[in-house]
Amino acid sequence: MVDAAARASYDMLLDLDWEDLGYVGLPHGHDRGLGLTGEIHNLFRYNLPGRPIPIWYRQSHGQYLATLAVLRPVFRLATNFLLCPASLGWFYYLIYAPRKLTDPLIQHNGDDVFEYRRDGTDMTERHRKARAALERLAMVHTISLDDFGNNNEDEGVTSVGTKFHQQGVNIKDDWSPPNGIGFHVSINRDFVRILMELCMEGHDSVTQMFVIGTKMAVTWIHEIAHGAWMASNLKLREASRREDAYRAQALANHLQREPKELNLNEDLFEDENCAEPGYSWEKFVFGGNIELPYFNPDRPLVFFKWPNFLKGDRDLRRRRWKPSATQYFIPWPWIINVNSQKWWDSWTSSVREDHITALHIKKIVGYRIYWSSLSLDVDWIPSESSEGVWPTDEELTGGEKPFLRVSRKGAGVRNKDPSFAGANELGGP
Ligand SMILES: [Zn+2]
Repeated sequence: MVDAAARASYDMLLDLDWEDLGYVGLPHGHDRGLGLTGEIHNLFRYNLPGRPIPIWYRQSHGQYLATLAVLRPVFRLATNFLLCPASLGWFYYLIYAPRKLTDPLIQHNGDDVFEYRRDGTDMTERHRKARAALERLAMVHTISLDDFGNNNEDEGVTSVGTKFHQQGVNIKDDWSPPNGIGFHVSINRDFVRILMELCMEGHDSVTQMFVIGTKMAVTWIHEIAHGAWMASNLKLREASRREDAYRAQALANHLQREPKELNLNEDLFEDENCAEPGYSWEKFVFGGNIELPYFNPDRPLVFFKWPNFLKGDRDLRRRRWKPSATQYFIPWPWIINVNSQKWWDSWTSSVREDHITALHIKKIVGYRIYWSSLSLDVDWIPSESSEGVWPTDEELTGGEKPFLRVSRKGAGVRNKDPSFAGANELGGP
């Protein structure tokens, strides 16, 4: 649980805030009845008929079964995240929506930057096509759990994998020639190490297991989002084939050619200013990007509106960063809900268009982080913001700014929210 020590490290928050977030006074046995029972998506299986090699690269079936014993709940949650209405919609747009040149035209590393947008396709059709594409995706990727060293910043990495699909891949249903490239997802092995340690600690660590398992499931689909972009991306395949040809030519001429990294010029979704399909997916499904501070399951999961300056400049393609970001704490009932089969069953049997916000996380309490102590949040307009507590100009002067508590409770956000996301407040402790 988010214990007293972890709470104390956020001294800008009030005791009342933790109560509002559902982190205090959890009754014993609150986890009873939790846990998912659904099927695991083919993306996470050991192998599938018709694949030239197992999905789990360089792992025996026995090793996979041992991994599965620990990761089954994570795969079930990842499957639910992958197949929820918002996610299916997003994957449909990523894979099927036409790529249009940015206007005004943006270039990145010498290549034109493209955008993809929502279209008018009806929900049932969108979901059908996305599900089919995700099934095909399971035929063209590989997975490994890897030691990321001390770099806990990286929870997962996706890279192009041409080795087993030299002709390219096709995950659309238009029977065109292959128009994308296979991919490999590498996930930080620390997730498994921590989960196993918590497992051995037994019942007392159930809440930490939900925290780390939820973050791992989010990470996994974040990486799959990058992979789906690769698998449906003609220009990347062309670049890869060009590079292969250069290399072959160099070899024939007895010349050395240094391996050249492909320019991963990812596309922009709608008006977003960052080209990062993984975060774009997180934003579409959850309303922001989900983080586990310090990779520490004793900490509460947090989330940010995305894009934000904390994510670095690598993916910025247009406009500038807002010089501040708010770190919101994920309410405990949300974590309970997404890990409860009953919650999923209560609405997924008859999905409606407005269920697109079913997994959006409520912004209740958080704190503001600044780019630097000199940056002022110049575009913040009090009358248009629901973030109730905000420093006045007087408070902003006077040197170094502290982390400032941001509360939206006063704005009555919880009650006013008309979307189905309101269900996230139900069923919790
Ligand atoms: Zn990413």
